[in-house]
Order: sequence, then C-alpha cells, then structure tokens
Amino acid sequence: MYSVDLENLCKSYGSIQALKGLTLKVPHGSLYGLLGPNGSGKTTTLRILCTLLAPDAGKVSVAGFDALKNPRLVRSQIGYVAQEVAVDKILTGNELLKLQGDLYHLQADEINERIEDLTKRLDMNTWISRRCGSYSGGMKRRLDLAAGLLHRPQLLVLDEPTVGLDIESRTAIWELLLELKAQGTTVLLSSHYLEEIEALADQMAIIDGGCVIAQGAPDELKKELGGDRVTLRVREFSNQDESEKVRNLLLNLDGVRQVVINRAQGFSLNLVVDDETVLPRLRSELDKSPFELFALSHSRPSLDDVYLQATGRTLMDAELAIAGQRDIKLENKQAMR
Ligand code: ATP
Repeated sequence: MYSVDLENLCKSYGSIQALKGLTLKVPHGSLYGLLGPNGSGKTTTLRILCTLLAPDAGKVSVAGFDALKNPRLVRSQIGYVAQEVAVDKILTGNELLKLQGDLYHLQADEINERIEDLTKRLDMNTWISRRCGSYSGGMKRRLDLAAGLLHRPQLLVLDEPTVGLDIESRTAIWELLLELKAQGTTVLLSSHYLEEIEALADQMAIIDGGCVIAQGAPDELKKELGGDRVTLRVREFSNQDESEKVRNLLLNLDGVRQVVINRAQGFSLNLVVDDETVLPRLRSELDKSPFELFALSHSRPSLDDVYLQATGRTLMDAELAIAGQRDIKLENKQAMR
C-alpha cells in the first residue's frame, strides 16, 4: 500500500523541463527521503502531490485518492511544510496555531490540547506566546512544522526542513520526525543533505534532472553497490589535467572498477575497487609513475557513493555545476544590460 504513488510526472516551466517522467512510490508508514541537488525537481514534485501545482502529464495518487480529481480530500489528509517559511509577523505562535486549527474546523479544546502537546515536543515553551516577527529562522521552522501537524495528518510532506538551521532546531525536528514515524505517520521529506537522509530515512529515492534514478532502502542501495571505496590524491590540490592522467593510469589496474574525478574536493579521485587487496597494487603503480601519492583513504560504500554510481558525479559536484550554470546565466544577463 502506497501513501504516495506518482507515475510518469512531467512538468515544464516555459522551456525548462523540471520533471521528465518521474515515477515515485512512497510506502505507507515509511520515513521517505527524496535526495537530490538544487534544481533537480524536488519542490516541483512535492507541490504537485500537495495539489498546489498541476502536472502537464502523469498520475498522482495521494493517501488513496486521485489528487487531480479530489484535491480537497487529499488536502485534508496531508500536512505540508514548504521550503519558504510562511508565518505571520504580527500574530504570536499560539495565535497562529489556533488559526490553523480553526481552518481545519477542529474543536477549541482539541486545538488547545494539540498546541500544548506540539509546544512540548518541539521545545517551543519559552517563545510560543511571543509575536512571530521576533522569531529566529529555527523558531519559525519549528512553528511551521507544528502548524503542518496540528490536524494530525496521515502524511506529512516537508521540503528541505532543516536548511540553514541551528543544531538545536535541527535535532528537535529530527526527533519529532522519528517519533511520528514510530506512531505510524508517513513522512516524506526532500533534502540535499546526505547525513539527513542517512540519519532519518528508511526508504529513499535519488532524483536528478527531473527523474528518479534510484530508489529503495538506503542500506540495500549501499549493499547493491558492492565493492569498496578508495579516495586518493597525488597532491593536496591537483588540476584536471593531472587527475585525468592518474585516472587513466589506474583505470586498467586489476580490481579497479571505476575512477571518478572529484572536482569539488580539489580534483581528488574516487575509486570503486573489489576489496582492500587492490591497495598495494595502487601504491606500487603510483610508485612507478611520475605521480607521488599524497593521501589515500579506504571505506565501505556510503550514500554519496550510491549517488555517484547513479549519476556519475558526487552530490557536491552536482550542486557546483548548478551554481555554475546560475552564475553564467547571471553574467550573461548582466552583459546584455
Ligand atoms: P531546490 O532544492 O533548489 O529547491 P528542487 O530540487 O526543489 O531545487 P525545483 O524547485 O523543483 O527543484 O526546480 C526544478 C527546475 O525547475 C529548476 O531548473 C528550477 O529553476 C525550475 N523552476 C522551478 N520553479 C520554477 C518557476 N516557477 N518558474 C520557472 N522555473 C522554475
């Protein structure tokens, strides 16, 4: 049984194709992580399943309802915590939560009881009666999350809930999400933090360029990868040319399956190898070459490796590439002025 079942979603904004046939199935009761770099289509997907945006094509089933035919029914079943925090400046936190309860037609004593419970669970006691205009980013996020949970939705959808937050707020949010999952609520959250998905998700999908390119349980995805990971560098900060020469040298070695240049980490090299018996061969190959080994580390597969395998680049490199495209567009615009 799926809480969210999306099939072949397509969505364009003018000439930008944000979703290109995205298919995603979120099992009922899971804490599901949607991992992808900026601009990969996470927000567009979440806004479509929350009925805030219509797809150009595809099927959208949420909490057992066709979201395109029954948007009101879907809205009554879900809580949505958007990327941009939406709290009023004049109202106090308490007043804002009461208003939220009224909008869902809850009884007054029910509203008070839930506000008290969420205030305690999200550690908001000391500031909940203050005006929201004076709140820090972390306080606003926690209040936003409480508002999304007031009507006890069976599916909670969060768009990058902890971006830029202090550790205290992040911990409070993580703890509540784990508690909700334990109580049977389905939680779907998007993130571009590997450690967030690693800490919370029992199921996940990697989204890149508007498509889901891998999905499953994080541990299973890591297991499926097979092979050990080696990171090496021949200098603290290399250049592309040098790294490509080292890459070509190591690619043909027995036991080396893949070598990827990691631009974000000073052109270091990420290798997938059969096991640790490859390490002496790597060292001796470099000893024979003009390149001197500067650093080498060896580990079991991580979620970053899952991402690397699925996309051919690290998550950080994907973010850098997108930031680079934005800078070029900005420069072009400025040059045209
Ligand atoms: P982020 O983490 O930065 O929010 P995301 O993975 O959530 O990114 P989306 O916000 O869904 O990605 O954006 C996907 C693509 O669609 C990007 O190229 C983005 O620039 C573009 N896009 C999103 N919203 C709009 C819009 N309203 N008008 C034009 N383009 C848009």
